[in-house]
Amino acid sequence: MEHPENGEEYKGLVVNKGIEQPSSVNPYLKRKPKKRQLSVAEFVEGITKGDVTILSQAVTLVESVKPEHQAVAQEVIEKCLPFSGNSIRVGISGVPGAGKSTSIDVFGLHVLEKGGKLAVLAIDPSSERSKGSILGDKTRMEQLSVHPKSFIRPSPSAGSLGGVARKTRETIILCEAAGFDKIFVETVGVGQSETAVHSMVDFFLLIQLSGTGDELQGIKRGIMEMADGIVINKADGDNLERAKLAATQFRSALHLFPAPESGWTPQVLTYSGFYNLGVKEVWDMVYAYMDFVKANGYFEYRRNEQSKYWMYESINEQLRDSFYHNPKIEAMLLEKERQVLSGNLTSFIAAKSLLDTYFEDLSLI
Ligand code: GDP
Repeated sequence: MEHPENGEEYKGLVVNKGIEQPSSVNPYLKRKPKKRQLSVAEFVEGITKGDVTILSQAVTLVESVKPEHQAVAQEVIEKCLPFSGNSIRVGISGVPGAGKSTSIDVFGLHVLEKGGKLAVLAIDPSSERSKGSILGDKTRMEQLSVHPKSFIRPSPSAGSLGGVARKTRETIILCEAAGFDKIFVETVGVGQSETAVHSMVDFFLLIQLSGTGDELQGIKRGIMEMADGIVINKADGDNLERAKLAATQFRSALHLFPAPESGWTPQVLTYSGFYNLGVKEVWDMVYAYMDFVKANGYFEYRRNEQSKYWMYESINEQLRDSFYHNPKIEAMLLEKERQVLSGNLTSFIAAKSLLDTYFEDLSLI
């Protein structure tokens, strides 16, 4: 229709026709269909073929707290189990700043020189921390992170230490089934997480620094006792002599500990991750240990003991979970706690009444 202002009385003024406005939605955009979750068989096939994308997806399921994800994950793990086990598993621990990332980068390249594939996993019980740089950030391992034969996975972040550690252990199984024959499990050397790492590796490597004379201070005795090798990092430049002195002190301290079950005498070495000095010697030690424990049967024994440990750990975790997530218990727990705190109920009676309620509820199901 002609615009009224184009009429005779508005001479001199021309109103053009409007033009069609472009759509605010891109008509060429094809909506991606939601990614279909792979079936258990597809996961297992992908993993055993060494497909890293599928491996990553499976690890994500292992880490998920959703029951439907867990169900698939557990089935995948079970089917991958026969393909796992064929690797060396090394735990690497050290306080923040000890040089774990720098060292793992050079250690990784060193072990990959022999061929094979390396997975670097981590256990970091503090979700806060893994959101930050420590253990969470792939770029900490600059060379490994772009190496075609390496797979780096930061720590699962949510949950208790036991839960996080279990997920890391399950991830080891998947990685091994995917052909990773070298597994590093990194942890911050600040306490209980070492025990968890120790329960899933063949060799436990403790990275230490030379300090100000009191080298042994602040290192928990239990952690030193777990170590199959202690390595003093940053043995370079001005620090070289101090590192050697620290090594001597560690050696004499280790003499005071009872002989390890493995029959292996833990060694103390110095090296520099940054300047790549003494790295070969560190790994010669690890390989010598592997030969030693494979020959005397301790390798098999330790792996069996670990499997047993994880069976009981899983039972404990699932029982605890089932108890605390029971709706009746959830409804009662705080009230019982309050009664205990106010002195109206003893801890034991409170515990008994909660457990009785729980078992009664179970018997009704
Ligand atoms: P992490 O917190 O244990 O992972 O430690 P990093 O690998 O991030 O290292 C902490 C700091 O120590 C960084 O500034 C590194 O450059 C430095 N560093 C690591 N290894 C060495 C080493 O062998 N010699 C020296 N001089 N510095 C090092």
